Amino acid sequence: MQGVDAVVVGAGFGGLYMLYRLRELGLTVRVIEAGSGVGGTWYWNRYPGARCDTETMQYSYSFSPELQQEWRWTEKFAGQPEILAYANHVADRFDLRRDITFNTSVVSATYDEEHDRWSVVTDADETIDSRFVFMATGCLSTARMPDFPGMSSFNGRTYHTGHWPHEGVDFAGRRVAVIGTGSSAIQSIPMIAQQAKHVAVFQRTPNYSIPARNVPMTDDYERQWKSDYPALRQQQKRTRTGILNGLNDVSAMAVSDDERQRQYEQRWLTGGTTFMASFNDLVTNKDSNHTAAEFVRQQIKATVRDPAVAELLTPRDYPIGTKRICADTAYFETFNRDNVTLVDIRKAPIDRIVADGIVAAETTHAVDDIVFATGFDAMTGALLKVDIRGRGGVSLRDKWNAGPRAYLGIATAGFPNLFMITGPGSPSVLSNMIVSIEQHVEWLTDCIRHMQNCQMHVIEPTLAAEDAWVEHVNKAAHRTLYPSAASWYMGANIPGKPRVFMPYIGGVGRYREECDEIAAKGYEGFTLAPAGGAPVAAPRAL
Ligand SMILES: Cc1cc2nc3c(=O)[nH]c(=O)nc-3n(C[C@H](O)[C@H](O)[C@H](O)COP(=O)(O)OP(=O)(O)OC[C@H]3O[C@@H](n4cnc5c(N)ncnc54)[C@H](O)[C@@H]3O)c2cc1C
Repeated sequence: MQGVDAVVVGAGFGGLYMLYRLRELGLTVRVIEAGSGVGGTWYWNRYPGARCDTETMQYSYSFSPELQQEWRWTEKFAGQPEILAYANHVADRFDLRRDITFNTSVVSATYDEEHDRWSVVTDADETIDSRFVFMATGCLSTARMPDFPGMSSFNGRTYHTGHWPHEGVDFAGRRVAVIGTGSSAIQSIPMIAQQAKHVAVFQRTPNYSIPARNVPMTDDYERQWKSDYPALRQQQKRTRTGILNGLNDVSAMAVSDDERQRQYEQRWLTGGTTFMASFNDLVTNKDSNHTAAEFVRQQIKATVRDPAVAELLTPRDYPIGTKRICADTAYFETFNRDNVTLVDIRKAPIDRIVADGIVAAETTHAVDDIVFATGFDAMTGALLKVDIRGRGGVSLRDKWNAGPRAYLGIATAGFPNLFMITGPGSPSVLSNMIVSIEQHVEWLTDCIRHMQNCQMHVIEPTLAAEDAWVEHVNKAAHRTLYPSAASWYMGANIPGKPRVFMPYIGGVGRYREECDEIAAKGYEGFTLAPAGGAPVAAPRAL
């Protein structure tokens, strides 16, 4: 059995950066990654049209001034191949690969209370003995496959957007069904429609989507960012979303109708999800939200020629922004094509899949290929796939039976020295995730350094601190409109998953302050213990 100081699970942006920092602390590290390469999300999601909807000058690491100066993005919103190339560049530039084991999944992690060590087991039957475990397993990395009757009888090809074949897929001359209309569907449908003979889009819930209006990077724009990168990165960290989005810090209700319309039109023309920054209360004030939602509804009506299709594509029963807002390139326009049809599976749900197609409301839609754009078991899926057992052999699955509970979204009581990067209870999926990843990794690095300095071996949150944090996260959520939508933020896309609003809505700026304050108070809410010693209340910071 090999012994290391730390096992990091996952080699996406979270795992790569965690490895880099742990090495700096002098720790021996093994990174275990299920894929054959680095990049996580950008390794797996190779569907046509996959791209970032956070501007890539902002969706990139800030920890290395040299890296952020030397890397050149070719588009405002980079596509998946370019982001994957960036992840590979980072792995090479910082010589990270030598500590990563690819094509291997962690299947269990068990805490040995006698020795204060984790026993991490992989699907290659290797057991790694480790002091720390860092779960950098990703919030959107466990693809959700629906379970329609008859699926195995389908004679055609099937794909999930989150597990796209590396060699790509040729849809020329094919009749393709796309099931789902979330972000991945909205990005891929226009691309598939350009190639396929016919595309049938199976929609349960229409989505709000804003045109991305992606453009090639210009030297000028790149210079603007790079000449002031350190200051801009600092500003990003203090925002609510980790994105400099030109927030118009006024209520939508505080301006005239004309001014409101002007603001929305300008944002619509600029493009991208920063549309939600048109006013400061779009996710907290129903009336304000309604004005933004109504504006988008009007755009759909004006874009889609067939009024019945336009109406079906129009979201009406949840506030804009409370499900992940999408950015598209010609999504609504695609429904004006002769080779695209929309199937309303809310009214007529899919009954079953048969050899040559999909049956909904006793109508058979004959297709050659099915693309499942059915999303992910978000935030907890990858964590709970691993059989994690803490003190007393208690499993995380049991502990989180009624929903995830974690202190700061970083650690959970009863599971000492086990950490989550962007876990439930942190801003995570509500933010620019690279900003949130960097913050977690840096906070944890400081925490481990603190433990080294005061010769503490074990750290674990107290149940009381965890309970208080979970309540804080809930209260923050219920001050907004988010819980009113049946979204994957709430676990609503997974049958049987507890309905709990999982991310922390307080904003990355405020969250950072809260984390820093806890660290400054000597890791308040955690207990620390020396090797073989009894837990002690968190000591004051050195
Ligand atoms: C299509 C798509 C578009 C996105 N666009 C944006 C965007 O524009 N802006 C934004 O901020 N965020 C976006 N995201 C979110 C994105 O997931 C994060 O930005 C970021 O890439 C997450 O990095 P990560 O390292 O935390 O997780 P991931 O990139 O998901 O990496 C986790 C890795 O862990 C591995 N893993 C999981 N479990 C195990 C196990 N048991 N054993 C071994 N390996 C394991 C997985 O194989 C994976 O490689 C997008 C997500 C998707 C799916």
